[in-house]
Amino acid sequence: MNIHEYQAKEVLEKYGVAVPKGIPAMSVDEAVKAAEELQSDGATLLVVKAQIHAGGRGAGHFTDNPEGKGGVRLCKTVDEVKDAAEAMMGKVLVTKQTGPEGKEVQRLYVTDGVDIEKEYYCSVLLDRATSRVTFMVSTEGGMDIEEVAEETPEKIVKADIDPATGFQGFHARKLAFALGLSKPQMKSAGKFFANLYKCFVETDASIVEINPMIVVGDEVMALDAKMNFDANALYRHPDILDMRDETEEDENEKIAADNELSYVSLDGNIGCMVNGAGLAMSTMDIIKLYGGEPANFLDVGGGATKERVTTAFKIILSDPNVKGILVNIFGGIMKCDVIAEGVIAAAKEVKLSVPLVVRLEGTNVEKGKELMAGSGLPIISADNLEDAAKKVVEATKQAEAA
Ligand code: GDP
Ligand code: MG
Repeated sequence: MNIHEYQAKEVLEKYGVAVPKGIPAMSVDEAVKAAEELQSDGATLLVVKAQIHAGGRGAGHFTDNPEGKGGVRLCKTVDEVKDAAEAMMGKVLVTKQTGPEGKEVQRLYVTDGVDIEKEYYCSVLLDRATSRVTFMVSTEGGMDIEEVAEETPEKIVKADIDPATGFQGFHARKLAFALGLSKPQMKSAGKFFANLYKCFVETDASIVEINPMIVVGDEVMALDAKMNFDANALYRHPDILDMRDETEEDENEKIAADNELSYVSLDGNIGCMVNGAGLAMSTMDIIKLYGGEPANFLDVGGGATKERVTTAFKIILSDPNVKGILVNIFGGIMKCDVIAEGVIAAAKEVKLSVPLVVRLEGTNVEKGKELMAGSGLPIISADNLEDAAKKVVEATKQAEAA
């Protein structure tokens, strides 16, 4: 689960990670009030920041003014804050991370502007290759880290943390040296990293990304913050769960979660309905192997009912990119005839308009196939995974061309 920058900074602050002072605003009026408050506390530079669940806001643009400024604006006066807030609130911001459709800005964050000498990059994440919590830092802060990784990978320095010992002084020194920090800055950086690690572990985060991390005087601070949490651990963090902003989430992913379906939408055009996460992954792999692109990951789970299969179908079909569907079900706990009934009922209910390839295997498979053959629906039956993938890629290509 993602949260907004201002919320991430709230969490970080609780762990002693330094951040510039800021006040969230849900309207232009609130932004003006926030600016006045910060100014009366001595702020001479103010920053208005669009709060959306995506980065790259500064370099982004608003759809109503593509040539204008992005979603991070420096302001000298309260009037300028008002103008910036008006230009952002309720408008659609497009960044590298939002996709071309962009995201509507519903919240703003007004912060104390900081004099920046240099921007660094710092993130904490779980490295699946080493199975360890890993720090990644770079002197190339403020920019797209993927680009840095691609073009100058030597400028990214990592430190993986042994869970038995936790974050140690030598980790801090390795990271701080890599950034070329001075001695007093290193001291502050050490605290910063250690607090970041504690925050990451205790909140069950899956990523904490500080881009840019900056040094003001000798103090290391988080100028931007992105946090993402492991959804499976949220039950033990009600305070973080409260930060959920459902308006930022994919509508289909929400419906799926409510129906106990694991669904992740992707960019391709072949909708997939599979039972079991492993089978779903291999189905996606084999689709790609035969030249297709999956439109989603969807695991209907072990005990899917007819209703759930129908919901799953509706979710897949509500994606306008879907030009073909592959149902790949192994009937173990679930029986193939029950699945077939679900697929038939769902296909009829949603008035299926794209080719549907079904591969069933397992208990009562013959009965399941019979039901589908007798349904009067144009279901393409497949005998194995390879056959299914070839058929759906071919059928989707034809549907796309038609
Ligand atoms: P992002 O574009 O979504 O990553 O948003 P950031 O919070 O990282 O801001 C983008 C850029 O705006 C930063 O890399 C800075 O260069 C600049 N910026 C943000 N806040 C301040 C500030 O307080 N002072 C100055 N001088 N620049 C800032
Ligand atoms: Mg940033």
